[in-house]
Order: sequence, then C-alpha cells, then structure tokens
Amino acid sequence: MSGLLLGGRELAAAIRVETAERAAALTAAGTPPRLTVVVATDDEASAWYVRSIGTAAAKIGITCDVIELGGDADVATIRATLTRLSADDLVHGIILQTPLPAGATLEDLGGAIAVEKDVDGANPLSLGRLAAGLPAYPPATAAAVLALLDHHGVELAGRRAAVIGRSTVVGKPVAHLLLDRHATVTVCHSRTPDLAAVTATADILVAAAGRPGLVTAEHVKRGGVVVDVGTNPTPDGGLVGDADADSVAERAAGLTPVPGGVGPVTTALLLNHTVRAAAGRL
Ligand code: NAD
Repeated sequence: MSGLLLGGRELAAAIRVETAERAAALTAAGTPPRLTVVVATDDEASAWYVRSIGTAAAKIGITCDVIELGGDADVATIRATLTRLSADDLVHGIILQTPLPAGATLEDLGGAIAVEKDVDGANPLSLGRLAAGLPAYPPATAAAVLALLDHHGVELAGRRAAVIGRSTVVGKPVAHLLLDRHATVTVCHSRTPDLAAVTATADILVAAAGRPGLVTAEHVKRGGVVVDVGTNPTPDGGLVGDADADSVAERAAGLTPVPGGVGPVTTALLLNHTVRAAAGRL
C-alpha cells in the first residue's frame, strides 16, 4: 500500500482497457457483446446511473440497451421481460436496475435472469453458487471490494475481516468472497451490539451500511484497512461514504475514498463481467 487513500480510478481504467480488448476480439469473431438494463423506476439517481453505464459501455465497445418499463410496471411484466432476455442469444448480460416498484423485490425477480447472464449477481442462485465456491458472477460492487483490496496489495488469507451490512447485493456476497480468500469474517448489521468493539478487531473493515459518518476511529484497528462502500448523497449534490474520513485517518493505514473508490471499479467490473459472459466464460 502507498498512502492512506486507496483509490479506484487507476484500477477501473486498467479493467476498462482489458475489457475493451476482449470486446474488440469478440466483435471481430462475430459476437459483439451486448448488455441490457431493465429499468422499472422513475428515480432520477437511477436514471443517471443507467446513463453512466451506457456511456462507459459505448467507450469500451459494448452495446448497452435500456428497456424502460416505467415506475408502475407490474411484477409479471418485469419477470416476462427478464425471461425473454434470458432466452435471447444476442443478449449476454442482464441487469435489473433498482429501486423496483412496490411489491417487487430483486431477490424474487433476479431469479428470472439466467445465471450465465447475471452480470450483477442478482439471481439468488448466483449468491448460492458463490457461497458454495462454484462459478458465478458476484454483484459488481462486491467484486469491486475484493479487486480494490488486491490492487492495493492487502493480504487477506488468515486475517480478520469485518463487514458492516448484510444485504444480498453487498454485505453477504462480500463476506463470502472474503471467506473464500481465507479471511476470518464477521458480518455486522443494525442489530449488532457494540459495533465498534467488533469492528476494531478487524484488519480489514468493509463498510456497507449506507449511514454517513457511521465509521469513526473507534471502529478501526490501528493499521487496519477500511473499504468504504457507502454512497450517501449530501444536500449540496455531493456524495459521502459511511466513514468519517478525518477520524478514520487517525488509526487506519488505508481507506478507499468516496467518490473515486469502489464506485468506478464497480462500473468497470459490470462491463468486464459482460464480456466474460459474451465469451461464455462464467
Ligand atoms: P441496505 O440498506 O440494503 O443494507 C444496509 C445494511 O447495513 C443492512 O444489512 C443493515 O443491517 C446495515 N446497517 C444499517 N445501519 C447500520 C448501523 N447503524 N450499524 C450496523 N449496521 C447497519 O443497503 P445496500 O444496498 O447493501 O447498500 C449499502 C450502501 O452501499 C449504500 O450506501 C449504497 O448506496 C451503497 N452501494 C454502493 C455501491 C457502489 O457501487 N459503490 C453499490 C451498491 C450499494
């Protein structure tokens, strides 16, 4: 590691270069990689994120289609769309964008995405396969946490890791990926008593609670590394993580910034998963 801030932009750029090379080779071989994002929300932040995926995909040579079903789409329509795309040989990656309409859940609808096209790990089978050590695409954010730790040379085997958050999109898959890399993992959540007492024993702390300022120096082991997954909008239109960076800096040896840490690597890995899917390389 060099310096406190463990940025993600350099790694994201390297992933994009490799992904663009693979996309060009696939296109030359007659399989132009294609990603489809299914959107069933009128949420503005979500629309911004989907546009950013489209822009990044275009630069890399991946076709990105967006299917807008509207914020009042019913569950049957969303499921039928995902089922149709799963059977379409020209589509290699499928993302179901969140938030979803009331009554719809990612855990339920994700099951309609074929596992080999599930580039953002939404199908519960993908999570089950990860837990069983079988090939599957992890949610791109969870994969980004591990990619950042590797990029910055953080040793995982035999070390203690704590994950704050147990969602199916971040906390649980991150815990499985860390376990798979021989870390000793504790998963904390909103009902964990004395959070700081648990997390301060961890060499690696992954914060994925969505609570700005939750992680302070007392939560961090001296010399520990903090990966901040949180993305919390500020009133002035900015973005902050879950860590109070100034406070955490008193003890941590490394901290991923927000923005510029997990976020850019997540988008790059989504596209990387898509070219892997187009190459049939789950
Ligand atoms: P979620 O709301 O589904 O889950 C949050 C988890 O944090 C829950 O398990 C909850 O028990 C735990 N939690 C909440 N408050 C806590 C507290 N005070 N102490 C301990 N645990 C607490 O959220 P999510 O979808 O997992 O996302 C988590 C964060 O990661 C959000 O800020 C989200 O915006 C961000 N995120 C970032 C990316 C990215 O690409 N950078 C992608 C996905 C999510």
